[in-house]
Amino acid sequence: MLYPKKCPLCHEVLKDRKQLLCGKCAEKLHPFSGALCMKCGKPVKLEEEYCPVCRVNGHYFTEGRSIFPYGEVWRQSLVRFKYYGCREYGDFYAKAMSIYGKKCLERWKPQLIVPVPLHPAKKRMRGFNQSAYLAEKLSIITGIPWDDSLVLKIRNTKSQKKLDAAQRRNNLRKAYEVTRELEGIPVLITDDVYTTGSTMDAMSMCLFEAGAQAVYFLTVCAGRQ
Ligand SMILES: [Zn+2]
Ligand SMILES: [Zn+2]
Repeated sequence: MLYPKKCPLCHEVLKDRKQLLCGKCAEKLHPFSGALCMKCGKPVKLEEEYCPVCRVNGHYFTEGRSIFPYGEVWRQSLVRFKYYGCREYGDFYAKAMSIYGKKCLERWKPQLIVPVPLHPAKKRMRGFNQSAYLAEKLSIITGIPWDDSLVLKIRNTKSQKKLDAAQRRNNLRKAYEVTRELEGIPVLITDDVYTTGSTMDAMSMCLFEAGAQAVYFLTVCAGRQ
């Protein structure tokens, strides 16, 4: 069935189905550039190696990178992708991750792509795990295998908003379970937005415990804390 394919950033119908983005939005596309935190990939001032968060608290993951700064355009795009069936937007996201994250991927050499899992109850409700969609598409583009069943969400975490960073981390850590040993391989986590890093940290702790040699992440956007 052929229904119109839309531009993931302005939501206008694309004339050519092979296009991932309309011409106007392609011109306005601004991935992160300039000085980036060597740990989490967020922008830093020139000559700074780490952002204030990474300098003070550190993180459990090895390193990560986000492609675009999160803003209103991206918020709307991701809402349509996650909740309103615009799955094709994910094809553009994964392509952008592979292009703008190419240097990182070449340096990191991950041997497995792992999505952030949804709790089964949440998955039944939403019917779609955006993170797994990105992992699958990135796997097809890069040839790196992906595994949807390596990490499971075993507890449905309550809203984290009232918790401080340490409580949040502890709360999340107990929420994941790695189902098999990893035998010293570098792993890449995919997701849509990176904010505080608490999800990446919690998953990293579990993946390291299971024997991962390194844990990296690649996300479409990075938001403010
Ligand atoms: Zn557009
Ligand atoms: Zn940082």
